[in-house]
Amino acid sequence: MRTIEFLILHCTAGSQAWTARELQAFFMRPVAEGGRGWSRGGYHWLVEGDGRAVRLYSDALVTNGTYPYAGLGIKVSNSNTVHICYTGGVGALMQAVDNRTAAQRMALAKLVRDYVAAYPNLRVLGHNQVREKACPAYWVPDFCHEIGIPDRRVWTGNPFGFPVPVAVSHTPNPAL
Ligand SMILES: [Zn+2]
Repeated sequence: MRTIEFLILHCTAGSQAWTARELQAFFMRPVAEGGRGWSRGGYHWLVEGDGRAVRLYSDALVTNGTYPYAGLGIKVSNSNTVHICYTGGVGALMQAVDNRTAAQRMALAKLVRDYVAAYPNLRVLGHNQVREKACPAYWVPDFCHEIGIPDRRVWTGNPFGFPVPVAVSHTPNPAL
């Protein structure tokens, strides 16, 4: 079993109507056809718009959620991370928007609490804390505080200066 140290939260940067099946198809589709051309998707879980949490991969498997980051005392990579994503995170002009539905917020809160309980050394963070990008379009340490996650279980590093607006100028690009 791999060592899981981090839980990174994401958005799809796409339609809130996307289903897990559509997201997975996007990851697997060849690059020439607008996909990612991957053999494995980006996330272990997808929280759909109605709040349904869909398990896409076992925690034992490494998914393609982020590039590695080392700095401010952490070393994050896909090999030591579980990735959770919700559908949404962008507005009509592809600008970053926290448009999580109430059902998605509840489902995310449950997942985060469950992972914090299951992995005693795990810490939670947002993708925008280890990449210069908007994903997941909200500040994960604030969300963790709201849902009662102890401070020591939340990574608060902010190397890219969120909430400086970061344009989401591409077509759906959930993982990078
Ligand atoms: Zn992300």
